[in-house]
Amino acid sequence: MIRNKLILMMVATLLVFSGSSSIAADEKVIKWKLAMTWPAGLPPFAWTVTRFADNVEAMSGGRMTIRVDDKNKHKAALGILDMVKAGQYEMGHSASYYWKGKDINTMPFTTMPFGMTTSEQDAWYFYGGGEALAKEVFDKHGVNQYQGGSTGNQMGGWFRKEINSVDDLKGLKMRIPGFAGEVLAELGVAVTNLPAGELYTALERGTIDALEWVGPGMDINMGFHKVAPYYYTGWHEPATDLQFLINQDAWNELPADLQAIIEVAMVDSKARMYWENFAMSAEAWSKMGVDYPNIKVRTFPPEVIAEMKAVNARLIAETSARDPMFKKIMESQAEFMAKAREWTKMSDYLYLKDNIE
Ligand code: CA
Repeated sequence: MIRNKLILMMVATLLVFSGSSSIAADEKVIKWKLAMTWPAGLPPFAWTVTRFADNVEAMSGGRMTIRVDDKNKHKAALGILDMVKAGQYEMGHSASYYWKGKDINTMPFTTMPFGMTTSEQDAWYFYGGGEALAKEVFDKHGVNQYQGGSTGNQMGGWFRKEINSVDDLKGLKMRIPGFAGEVLAELGVAVTNLPAGELYTALERGTIDALEWVGPGMDINMGFHKVAPYYYTGWHEPATDLQFLINQDAWNELPADLQAIIEVAMVDSKARMYWENFAMSAEAWSKMGVDYPNIKVRTFPPEVIAEMKAVNARLIAETSARDPMFKKIMESQAEFMAKAREWTKMSDYLYLKDNIE
């Protein structure tokens, strides 16, 4: 009996070592947990996060694993900053404009209404001073912030009725996050924010009359068009970028090579999400007219856009007067955008102008 037990133990030990052959016997696997805002499997947001975790494990030869918890596991879709700050999770993936009520300066790293496009904003973030400003903002919370994937320009949302004037917005109950929510609140909209999993039910039950989510690639699958068939083009989220967060104490304990692996894997995920979402939207848009002929695509009337723009500028000025950090970020974005937009005009805009039917 004893001999059999010994043999079994030896076999078990051999199996353990052969299963982790790339890790030295005395090296401990570092196990992190990541909380994401999104439901499991939601393309491309959740895919972006699982791709990141898989890449870290592969690139580290199994020395590091990252368990991804979706919103049904941690039950706090919009509370990712708090959980990473508290060290409950080493990492998070979310959108920083969800925390505008806690710290309004987290918000401009997602997107700003009438702000930069994805190319412009990415250039600002990585090569125009954005990254240093983000560090200044997020250091106060004890977390590192990294860009986590852009959706590109978003659609303006789904409405039950056509919006023909600013008056049509008054009293409307709409789900819309970020600074755009502040702008619409000034125009009489009852603004709310809800996480992805609650959107359709809220619209169907009439808790909200209208909502915006992302764009055709992600929206059509949600079925919003069945309740609210007017689909408006965007003004409010021209470059929505998501965010990875890392608790700074956890980060500081990592060896330099694992830090580099994580940074590279995050940039890979960020870039791929933009391409993936673009492809999904192009595909969905090409089929939309045929598959869903009841969807009515609209743009907001020029006088509505003009009013939104005026309110947006006034709110930026008012918030800047109260908050020096907000002022600093807005000035940095405006200064960069002035240069970048001239180049956008000379490159993409003039090219497209002559090549769009
Ligand atoms: Ca959105």
